[in-house]
Amino acid sequence: MDRVGADSLGLENLVIVGSGPAGYTAAIYAARANLRPVVITGFQDGGIPGGQLMTTTHVENFPGFPDGILGPELMDRLKAQAVRWGTRLVEADAERIDLSQRPFRIEADGQTIQAQAVILATGASANRLGLPSEARFWNAGISACAICDGATPQFRQEELAVVGGGDSACEEAVYLTKYGSRVHLIVRSDRLRASKAMADRVLANPAIQVHWNRQVRDCSGGDWLEAIELVDPNGDPDGGASEQLPVRGLFYAIGHTPNTRLVRDQLRVDAKGYVITEPGRPDTSIEGVYAAGDVADAEWRQGITAAGSGCQAALAAERWLTHHGLAVTVSQDPVDPATVGEVQRTAVSDETNFDPQALWQKGSFATTATSPCWWCTPPPPAAPATCSSRSSSGCWRS
Ligand SMILES: Cc1cc2nc3c(=O)[nH]c(=O)nc-3n(C[C@H](O)[C@H](O)[C@H](O)COP(=O)(O)OP(=O)(O)OC[C@H]3O[C@@H](n4cnc5c(N)ncnc54)[C@H](O)[C@@H]3O)c2cc1C
Repeated sequence: MDRVGADSLGLENLVIVGSGPAGYTAAIYAARANLRPVVITGFQDGGIPGGQLMTTTHVENFPGFPDGILGPELMDRLKAQAVRWGTRLVEADAERIDLSQRPFRIEADGQTIQAQAVILATGASANRLGLPSEARFWNAGISACAICDGATPQFRQEELAVVGGGDSACEEAVYLTKYGSRVHLIVRSDRLRASKAMADRVLANPAIQVHWNRQVRDCSGGDWLEAIELVDPNGDPDGGASEQLPVRGLFYAIGHTPNTRLVRDQLRVDAKGYVITEPGRPDTSIEGVYAAGDVADAEWRQGITAAGSGCQAALAAERWLTHHGLAVTVSQDPVDPATVGEVQRTAVSDETNFDPQALWQKGSFATTATSPCWWCTPPPPAAPATCSSRSSSGCWRS
């Protein structure tokens, strides 16, 4: 793998921050345009290398895979395709991004990378409740994405619960009635924050039961979730009376946190911190800086929409660099690089082989083993620049 060593650094055409579907798709397009992009893959700040799909099992809705594909496998393929066309990877977190001067400056892995153009593809993290047994049942009954996971066989004709009172929660509750036998909507207060139309749809749906003034205290089960414990949020949080609600699925719809900590003071973001781009375009409020994927999308948040916007961002960056005469292109030699063949796979992580020092983890065990660090809000501190072993810093050993 072509690592960007400190001595090899010049002025880069394009640096892409983030290695989810948005980042890798942007890299594929930019690399094929001979821009030799650099991808800063991320390490533990705001997710994991490969992004959110590394934490799920079957992805059944990404076009081109009629029988579905495992999330980590899809990301291995995107990575291989990006590298095949000349993308260079920096396997670290971006620790500082300075957009106040040109070229832009990004600090990662103890080096400062200068870039004529930047694509921000740092995604967003689903907020979690932080239940005591959450890590145990994550991907074993608990999910943060009803649209992604609702059709999972284990949820079919079962009682399911959704937590939240906003539009997303209502939409997910209605969606899940397609699969579950009954959907329980757990609402902390005595009203829904959702739009009137959406709230009416929920209240009129006989398959949805709303539990007002209730919050989830914990969950239980065997290999798979079997019940959640509900309490009154206004009562004694520890000692108050509780009720057990038997459900096989618990879906969080309590919002996402966009990974914009490094840039939100430098470019336009909305009230929740999502990067604001021009309507239908990836351009941010700073010329030469583009945003793609969930970091700029509070609404659709899917692998394919992230990939599509990554494509847009790369094309926009390429046009902008060319227009300003800033691109230094390097032709592929040979024109068609060698085929990837068998994609290099990351070994599936489980309790027997999980290596906290390994950068790439495959499957949901990684999130369980290190939880809550990858998802905690605010994110864990970045590794000190002097740290020789990443596992000795941050959250691996917390
Ligand atoms: C459990 C689960 C299941 C899902 N299932 C599906 C599904 O079946 N189908 C579907 O279409 N979508 C699914 N989604 C949604 C999908 O995963 C996201 O919409 C998609 O991954 C967003 O892509 P992205 O590239 O914008 O961001 P992400 O995938 O979130 O990637 C963000 C990247 O940015 C990196 N990063 C963050 N901060 C930094 C930093 N400081 N420096 C460097 N890098 C950084 C992260 O390491 C990561 O690589 C699922 C999501 C979840 C959580």
